[in-house]
Amino acid sequence: MASDRYDYDLFVIGAGSGGVRAARMAAGQGVKVAIAEERYLGGTCVNVGCVPKKLFVYASEFSHAFRDAAGFGWTLPEASFHWPTLRDNKTKEIERLNGIYANLLDNAGVTRMEGTATIAGPNRVRMGDAEYSARHILLATGGWPFIPDFPGREHAISSNEVFYLDSFPRRVLVVGGGYIAVEFAGIFQGLGAETHVSYRGPLFLKEFDQDLRTGLARQMGEQGVKLHFETNVQAINKNADGSLDVSLSDGQQLKVDCVMYATGRNAKTTGLGLENTAVELAENGAIVVDEQFRTAEPSIYALGDVIDRVQLTPVAIAEAMVLVANLYNGSDESMDYDTIPTAVFSQPTIGTVGLTEAQAREQFADVAIYRTEFRPMKQTLAGGSDKILMKLVVDKASDRVLGCHMLGEAAGEIIQGLGIALKAGATKRDFDRTVGIHPTAAEEFVTMRTPI
Ligand code: NDP
Repeated sequence: MASDRYDYDLFVIGAGSGGVRAARMAAGQGVKVAIAEERYLGGTCVNVGCVPKKLFVYASEFSHAFRDAAGFGWTLPEASFHWPTLRDNKTKEIERLNGIYANLLDNAGVTRMEGTATIAGPNRVRMGDAEYSARHILLATGGWPFIPDFPGREHAISSNEVFYLDSFPRRVLVVGGGYIAVEFAGIFQGLGAETHVSYRGPLFLKEFDQDLRTGLARQMGEQGVKLHFETNVQAINKNADGSLDVSLSDGQQLKVDCVMYATGRNAKTTGLGLENTAVELAENGAIVVDEQFRTAEPSIYALGDVIDRVQLTPVAIAEAMVLVANLYNGSDESMDYDTIPTAVFSQPTIGTVGLTEAQAREQFADVAIYRTEFRPMKQTLAGGSDKILMKLVVDKASDRVLGCHMLGEAAGEIIQGLGIALKAGATKRDFDRTVGIHPTAAEEFVTMRTPI
């Protein structure tokens, strides 16, 4: 269906989760598609995000398994961890995935271009000396870690660098209180580093249900993570031996080998040539789009982290599906951002979908809370103090379950299924008439009978 007027029907800038999905799906509809990428195929998620992070989480969880094994009769030699093996095996896996992404695009008939694309004007993309015309341009350039300014900022790393460290740090400070900070605190601690977290607020993960936040802080503390809430980093000084002296705002001085900032990610639009278009940016730098991902420039669309609605890979992918359906399938859809399940791969894991207790109390007159906290069966022989926390938030008037929250092993796996139930409008009675699977932790979600 390639148009005669334009070189391409769709020119996608950025081959991350959203861009690749849009390119492949559009090409599948028979339109002529090009995709440009200046860094790595698969974007943040595949290269310096979800995928390598999860591999690191697996690596660090072995330390819990080694600890637990004795109560089950195992005697193990003292375990030691070899960072270069993990780092390089991970990199090989990422390179394999990069290849798969290239094949997916090639097999779909998408033209791949390596290098920096800039927008020369409406319907026009420049790559080096070449210029291409396109009926539609899709900006899917993602985000980039943000590190605030302070003396010694140059000594801090972000999640971009942490996956490629030359040596594993003996002592680490992670700064921030969002997904990345708590996930990496767990990774570092599990892999054997002395781990500190500095967060400016009173308790991390401020968007999450309070019970999960306090439960996670307690368990991370018990594992040995040193939590410095209500602190900011004032300065970092580098010593001759490479170690870093960190001054915290509460007067504490920390000596560490690595400071990792996880203080959010900004939309990546620098150098894109947006000044040649009518595309508008929000105050936080995100590209402004309407319900159908149209920017203020008629030929240009944007989705994924660069529009900063919900910075999650499955959301970018879903947005891409909506866009392609609208552009090439005659649909008139908009993205449903309601009840998006999410997991934080902290240790223990958080899984959550729907409203927190606080949000539900704001929006509904009468809310019932069901909550259980128990020692998982595995811990009875392992002897650990880990607890699993589960919570249901229910609207009393309609009996609808508004939120499901879990802190504990496999929370992400369990909450994914409950996400379907919530999307389908499940009531507490539906939960009650569901038979549990015994013995699992998950069965507790269908056996909580008495509100607290
Ligand atoms: P988040 O937005 O989740 O958290 C940023 C944290 O940094 C917040 O705690 C914030 O504090 C703090 N912060 C922001 N600015 C400053 C500052 N100037 N000084 C001190 N602290 C500051 O960002 P992340 O970087 O953790 O992750 C980016 C996004 O990537 C996430 O929001 C998530 O959408 C996605 N992601 C998803 C994962 C998953 O699905 N498992 C894993 C990793 C990332 P405050 O709370 O006070 O605002």
